[in-house]
Amino acid sequence: MAKAKFIEPDLDFIHEISSAEMQKCYQCSTCTVVCPISPEVNPFPRKEMIWAQWGLKDRLLADPDVWLCHNCNDCSVNCPRGANPGDLLATLRNYFYTKNAWPAFLGKAVNTPSMLPFIIAIPAVLILLLAAINGTLTPLFPLEDGHIRYGAMFPGMTLIDPLFVSATLFVIMSFSISISKLWSGMNNMTPRVPNKGMPLVQAIIATIQEILTHSRFDECGQAKTRSSAHKALVFSFIALAIVTGVVAGLEWLDILFDINLVSSGHHVTPLPFLSIIGGPLKLLANAGALLLIYGVYTAIMNRKNDPEGETFGKQTYQDWFLLYTILTIALTGLGSELLRLVNIAPIAYSVYFIHLIAVFMLIAYLPFSKFAHIVYRTTAIIHSKHVGRYEMTAEDVKGKEAIML
Ligand code: SF4
Ligand code: SF4
Repeated sequence: MAKAKFIEPDLDFIHEISSAEMQKCYQCSTCTVVCPISPEVNPFPRKEMIWAQWGLKDRLLADPDVWLCHNCNDCSVNCPRGANPGDLLATLRNYFYTKNAWPAFLGKAVNTPSMLPFIIAIPAVLILLLAAINGTLTPLFPLEDGHIRYGAMFPGMTLIDPLFVSATLFVIMSFSISISKLWSGMNNMTPRVPNKGMPLVQAIIATIQEILTHSRFDECGQAKTRSSAHKALVFSFIALAIVTGVVAGLEWLDILFDINLVSSGHHVTPLPFLSIIGGPLKLLANAGALLLIYGVYTAIMNRKNDPEGETFGKQTYQDWFLLYTILTIALTGLGSELLRLVNIAPIAYSVYFIHLIAVFMLIAYLPFSKFAHIVYRTTAIIHSKHVGRYEMTAEDVKGKEAIML
């Protein structure tokens, strides 16, 4: 006879994630059947529905399936009870960013609408403070040889680099804490099946391939248009990251060794179009920015045309925070370039200042915003390939109640 099992519900957790719709679930499993990316054994999201109804917080916060879900909404559309399982998984991910990332107070601040002025003020004050320390903060917007050069007010070596390198180190530290917790939780819930799965390095390579091709995302039915917008965003971020990295390297080469590979002038930026290295970088940056605008505009319009969330799922503050941060980056990035070309200094420097604030918000708040899914979902996919999640048979999980129910 099976042993009795005591369930300890976390009532506060139920209160925070629950919705009237979720409570309608009667465990018919239609959602798991229609989910295009759920594995054969212990599929999702039916089991997550009952775990959530029972308030099994620890189990849900360690559940890799919450992150394997691509939010396509096929399950919600087909649920006979209107219980919206896709929304539950999105709510759990938002809960994770808000409550489980380190430090918790920033998770709360980033995900609370009334705190928005505060989290915008942090980078604004830091940038102004660093500019003041540099002695470049002046009401007379600086011109060099009659032209705008953003580095004259926001110098790379003593303002941009220290600010963004510190933000990046902070993000790495924050993710190290939460990813190690998540990884060990996932290992407890879904241990590796002997002789199945891939070695870790192979799993990482296969995951990168899957993300670049969006092979799993393309299996989604209901929200297919999300895939093209998502691809545009992924490739634009890759293009812009390459440009940023190369330009930073060129600037440090110039500073440390007085080697300027892009121009015969005193500075690496603004990149000259008519330069063997600067021209292609400039083109790549502009292509990346246009792709970013296309991706974020499509994502915003998808949401706007679906106010009830029937196709794309319930809309949340986290969705809009991320979309508008990315839109601000794209528009102010292109705007900074155009305004520099037409040489309208006060507006150009102001737009560039907003651009820096938005970029800082995207990077420094990454562990607490919906953008963190790029890290957590990647981790969950790597884990699933490593442990052989998609090759498991019923025999492999026999007796492992942690992932069954
Ligand atoms: S969420 Fe809907 S489809 Fe899924 S088990 Fe519950 S009632 Fe059935
Ligand atoms: S939202 Fe899509 S991927 Fe996520 S559980 Fe539902 S059907 Fe599966």
